[in-house]
Amino acid sequence: MADTVFSKIIAGEIPSNKLFEDEHCIVIPDINPVAPVHVLVIPKKPIEKLSDANPEDQALLGHLMLTVGKVAEQLGVSNGYRVVINNGEEGGQTVFHLHVHIIAGFAMKEGDM
Ligand code: 5GP
Repeated sequence: MADTVFSKIIAGEIPSNKLFEDEHCIVIPDINPVAPVHVLVIPKKPIEKLSDANPEDQALLGHLMLTVGKVAEQLGVSNGYRVVINNGEEGGQTVFHLHVHIIAGFAMKEGDM
């Protein structure tokens, strides 16, 4: 898999404001937020997109979801937020290193991202 901006952030080659980090993932604010709270949960393992994940990634995918809950609490939005994974170009993915968006801070309507 080719290097992406996220693999460079994980490697420390590009500085970032990490809101959370453990052995499996990092959480950073989205550079172009679409809501008052918009952060990205990014696995350290370079998986290009969700549909490339393997059965061996099951625990990692679960860990990312549990991290979403933990970070939402940390950010004070555990009452409500949207969790988005864009998969592939036709799914709106622009950075080809799996990541989970947490979007919150305004009332989500049907049809929003
Ligand atoms: P995607 O469209 O692939 O699901 O989401 C990629 C997200 O990464 C976009 O929301 C975009 O604003 C964000 N992004 C792109 N480049 C950077 C960067 O260099 N730093 C951060 N923090 N976010 C980025």
